[in-house]
Amino acid sequence: MAVAPGSGGRGRAPSSLGKQRNDPGLRGDPAGTTYRCTCCGRQYPSQRGNFFTSKSQLFHGWGGYFPICKPCTEKYYAWMSSEVYGGDDMRTLHHMCRLMDLYYSEDTAAAALVESRPGFTPLSSYISRLTVSTGRKTNLSYIDTILEDLDAEREMKDAIRKAAEDQAEQILADARAEADRVRGDLERKLTLDDIPTEIKRRFGYGFEPEEYQYMQEQYEDWVKCYACDTKIQEELFKNMCLAQLNIVKAQQSNGDVAKATKAFNDLVLMANIAPRQQKDLVGENDTFGTLIQRWEEEEPIPEPDEKWRDADGIKKYISTWFFGHLAKMFKVENDWSAEYEKALEPYTAHPPSYDGDFNITGDGGEAELEADHGGE
Ligand SMILES: [Zn+2]
Repeated sequence: MAVAPGSGGRGRAPSSLGKQRNDPGLRGDPAGTTYRCTCCGRQYPSQRGNFFTSKSQLFHGWGGYFPICKPCTEKYYAWMSSEVYGGDDMRTLHHMCRLMDLYYSEDTAAAALVESRPGFTPLSSYISRLTVSTGRKTNLSYIDTILEDLDAEREMKDAIRKAAEDQAEQILADARAEADRVRGDLERKLTLDDIPTEIKRRFGYGFEPEEYQYMQEQYEDWVKCYACDTKIQEELFKNMCLAQLNIVKAQQSNGDVAKATKAFNDLVLMANIAPRQQKDLVGENDTFGTLIQRWEEEEPIPEPDEKWRDADGIKKYISTWFFGHLAKMFKVENDWSAEYEKALEPYTAHPPSYDGDFNITGDGGEAELEADHGGE
């Protein structure tokens, strides 16, 4: 590491004391007093011009001067800037302010660095600018910089705390508004007058308004999900709602929930809507074939009305002339073949025949049949 400047000159006698003069009013030093630099040890006949000023209370007893001579201080500055701060003058100036107990102003430091007057180093420029800008402010020192930093930090903390408090207040206000809304809803309590007579009649009298409301909601759900076409179904659903209410009441009053649940389950079984009974009910998992099978079993398509049974005669036509003909060809005797025979009869000329021998392709019959078809 480089050697700090000034150490080589310690205790060295001044080459010339120059004019025996001192600043007026400085502690009443007698004429001829010399001022020794605490770094190089050189003695100066006066402080003014040879030492930098500092308003720090630390140097009041030495006429308000920093007790290291200007050349040593400048050398120290240059060494510090290059060796410690890598040429960063702002940081070096800040360090020097801390060292000399000078007030640090970033603006003044920036202005001093821009300035390039001949003979003015950044440090001397900074100190002369600082002297001008702080004027008569006594005791101004690096302590003020620290206090300002603390103030800024405090202000920032206050701002953050205030923002957090504002946010917390907003959250509280929202929560209070929500609570008021809920309370308002609760206060708008249902009365028995709000319950339609029809609902009271359905479930019987003597319940609380909320109980009627609950049962009615459940009832509407049930009849929405399941067929309710008969009086008995209606009655079952009504009893299921009552049973559901009993479960809720049992839960709230620490009562016999199991018993209430069993009563409900029995009703569900009775209504034939228990999950296992309903597994084939229309559901996403049913195939179309399964559905058709169940519809055919439960609600088959009814037989058509007589007038729609075979409106265009196509059924009879196919039965007679296709199935009937086929059955006859294979010597099968059934309704179709009988039908076929009956239909063929008007066109049949019976040749003499042996018993049991029936020729369906008899010349006369076939020819006439074809002629008949052609005319249709
Ligand atoms: Zn010196």
